[in-house]
Amino acid sequence: MEPDTAVMRTQVAIVGAGPAGLLLSHLLGNAGVESVIVETRSRAYVEARIRAGILEQSSVDLLHEAGLGERLAREGDEHRGIYLQWPHERHHLDFVDLVGRSVTVYGQTEVTKDLGRAREAAGQEIRYEVSGTAVHDLDTDHPYVTFTGPDGTHERIDADVIVGCDGSFGPCRAAVPDSAKRTWERTYPYSWLGVLADVAPSTDELIYAWHPDGFAMHSMRSATVSRLYLQVPNGTDVAEWSDDRIWEALATRLGHGQDGWTLTPGPITEKSVLPMRSFVQQPMRHGRLFLAGDAAHIVPPTGAKGLNLAVADVALLAPALTALLRENNPKLANAYSDTALRRVWRCTHFSWWMTTMLHQSGDPFDQQLQLSQLRWVATSEAARTGLAENYAGLPIGF
Ligand SMILES: Cc1cc2nc3c(=O)[nH]c(=O)nc-3n(C[C@H](O)[C@H](O)[C@H](O)COP(=O)(O)OP(=O)(O)OC[C@H]3O[C@@H](n4cnc5c(N)ncnc54)[C@H](O)[C@@H]3O)c2cc1C
Repeated sequence: MEPDTAVMRTQVAIVGAGPAGLLLSHLLGNAGVESVIVETRSRAYVEARIRAGILEQSSVDLLHEAGLGERLAREGDEHRGIYLQWPHERHHLDFVDLVGRSVTVYGQTEVTKDLGRAREAAGQEIRYEVSGTAVHDLDTDHPYVTFTGPDGTHERIDADVIVGCDGSFGPCRAAVPDSAKRTWERTYPYSWLGVLADVAPSTDELIYAWHPDGFAMHSMRSATVSRLYLQVPNGTDVAEWSDDRIWEALATRLGHGQDGWTLTPGPITEKSVLPMRSFVQQPMRHGRLFLAGDAAHIVPPTGAKGLNLAVADVALLAPALTALLRENNPKLANAYSDTALRRVWRCTHFSWWMTTMLHQSGDPFDQQLQLSQLRWVATSEAARTGLAENYAGLPIGF
């Protein structure tokens, strides 16, 4: 330890102030368990980071139960289902009719802002803009986190438990020794070009479009902001995609002019390329280190599962850590990894299935299989119900 290290003590040290870390500290705080969060980025950066935007029914219910639902109830846009389409055909899948559950459009930026405000009001200790985060002594009852604060001070947090909520590139997942973990990975031969546009959505609910030129999706963030995606080759440079080229490709793939439907273009305010990857590391616990959210698993965004899985993980982990630390009862903590992984693998399969059904892989045989599957999903009650059950989300703890 550096001689000038400042030492702090808490019950749960959380690495990462994304949705998983912030929600976990909120749920623990509600249950009377103390935590400290460390985060490499600034609060403003975390709250402005454009990512997911669809909340499953169980995520919405959990946010309400946790006292975080006020703005969500006012500004969230509840959707009954989605549209699935391919050239000349568009079909609506009504999740409420099929499985009695809906989804809500509410940006990850808004979830993190609500959480940030709630944690600030509760006096939560969050150390933003830290560097060099490392986790230590995970096999003992006295694990600790070290980092350097924004002013260059060496700091250390002693804790009963450390939770890695540090996303796909954080240090926690990597701190589990190779001999104690197993990983699975699938990279896909395409990426998404995602844009935000200051224009009212041209659709009331999300459109998922199969097209010979590549997948396209019309989503939204609010009544005045549209979120749109195009399948592009891996390694695509956003500079290759002018605004005009983006709107033209979206119009073609989403079927502008088909059955009187029109796509209204508008000013694009953000563009980024998102590679598509599936990844799972298990177990989601090593000694006194627990992993939650993207730190343990990544899904391609086609099934809108990444944020919802992060919520589901911490919904299981918070009561488990509460029982462990307040009642010395390790039962739920011992079961956490197996319980969480059941849902993780279900969502991993669903996200892979939606992705491979809708994206062009360059294989004409695959195209025919995809079209056959899409027709089946759109027209068979049994197949529609399967998609609806997975998309609207299985109950937490499934
Ligand atoms: C680039 C990107 C774009 C995405 N776009 C979409 C989308 O369009 N649609 C969709 O449905 N889903 C999308 N997702 C998925 C979804 O946003 C994630 O599943 C969700 O953010 C998971 O939340 P999390 O809290 O587990 O991880 P994160 O949100 O990644 O949070 C992890 C936090 O840990 C912090 N951190 C990392 N390293 C350290 C360290 N060493 N020390 C301290 N803190 C650290 C990070 O800065 C971050 O704030 C996207 C994900 C990514 C990465």
